[in-house]
Amino acid sequence: MLRTGQPEMMERIPEQLLEDAAHDAEHLRLIRELNLVSYMAVPLRTPDSLLGVITFVSSSDVHLYGPEDLRLAEDLASRAAFAIEKAQLFRAAQQANEAKSRFLATMSHEFRTPLNAILGYSDLLEAEIKGPLNDGQKEQLSRLRRSAIHLRDLINDVLDLSRLEAGKADLRLGVFDLQDLVAHTVELVQPDATGKSLEVSTDISAAPARVNSDSGKLRQILLNLLSNAVKFTQKGSVKLSVRMEGESLAFEVRDTGIGIAPDQQRLLFEPFMQVDQSMTRTQGGSGLGLAVSQGLAQLLGGSITLVSEPGAGSAFTLHLPVIAPDVPIV
Ligand code: ADP
Repeated sequence: MLRTGQPEMMERIPEQLLEDAAHDAEHLRLIRELNLVSYMAVPLRTPDSLLGVITFVSSSDVHLYGPEDLRLAEDLASRAAFAIEKAQLFRAAQQANEAKSRFLATMSHEFRTPLNAILGYSDLLEAEIKGPLNDGQKEQLSRLRRSAIHLRDLINDVLDLSRLEAGKADLRLGVFDLQDLVAHTVELVQPDATGKSLEVSTDISAAPARVNSDSGKLRQILLNLLSNAVKFTQKGSVKLSVRMEGESLAFEVRDTGIGIAPDQQRLLFEPFMQVDQSMTRTQGGSGLGLAVSQGLAQLLGGSITLVSEPGAGSAFTLHLPVIAPDVPIV
C-alpha cells in the first residue's frame, strides 16, 4: 500500500493469507490465536506525501468490515494525516524560530563588542584628550557617534526581542521612586523635542509615589513610546500622564502627531512593522521598538494599547499591574 497509496479491505481474511504470512508453525499458531477475521488498511495521506498506513482488524465474526467501514476509516485517516502534518509543520516552525532567535542573539552580541569600542574611542576623541579638534572634525565626529548610537540601539532591540522570544528575559523587581523614573526618562527625549519646538509635559499627580516593578524595563518601554511620540509629531505637544486605573497603573503617552490609521494599529506591534515602509521614509527606526515594548510589558504582566486617529495624534497606554510595595511608602 505504501507503493500504491490505495486502501485495502478484506471482508474475510483467507486462511491462505495467514499461512503465507507466518514464518513457521509456531508463528502461525500465534497468528491464529489472534483470531483475525476481517481487515482493512487505509493510507495516511497528505497532499504532498504518504505518512503511513492505519490498519484495522476485526476479530469478531459478528462484525465483518464493509464499504461503509472503509469510508469511515478513510475519513479518520485523512483527519489524522492532517493533524500529524500540522503538528510536524508546527514543530518545524518552532525549530526555525529558535534557530533564528539563536542566530540573532549571537550576531547582535558579536556586533556589540566592536561597536562599544567605536563609541568608547569616539568619546575619547570628543573629550579632546589627544589634542583639540577643529569645528569640521567635531561635526563629523558627532555624525559618526549618531550613526554608531543608532546601530547600537538597533542591535539592543534585536537582542531584547530574541531574548523575549526565547523566554530568556529576566525580571528584576524592586521598589523605586516613580517621579525620578519619569523625570529621567523624559530628560532623554527633551533635546529632540526642543529641537522641534514641541512642548513635553508630565502629570503624575494621580499616581503612587513608589512602585514595585522592574524599573529598567519600565524605563525602556516609556522611552520607546516617548521617542516615537516625539519622532512622529511635527508640532504641538507630547504628554506623559500616570494614574491608577482600577488595580493597574496606566502610563499614557499622548501626542499631537501624524496619528495611525485603524488598519495599521494592530500590526505595529509586530516586529519590523512600520506605517511608512517606503525607501524614502523620512523617519529612521527599525520597526522593533513597539514589538520589544509590548513583549516587555507582557513580561511585567501588563500590555500596551493604542488609540489613534490619522492627523489627530496618538495615545499609547501601558497598563501595569501594581504589586503593593513591600516596604513602607515614605
Ligand atoms: P520604529 O519607530 O523604529 O519604526 P516602532 O516599533 O517603535 O519602530 O514603531 C513602528 C511604527 O509605528 C513606526 O515606524 C510608525 O510608523 C508607527 N508609530 C509608532 N509610534 C507612533 C506615533 N506616536 N505616532 C505615529 N506613528 C507611530
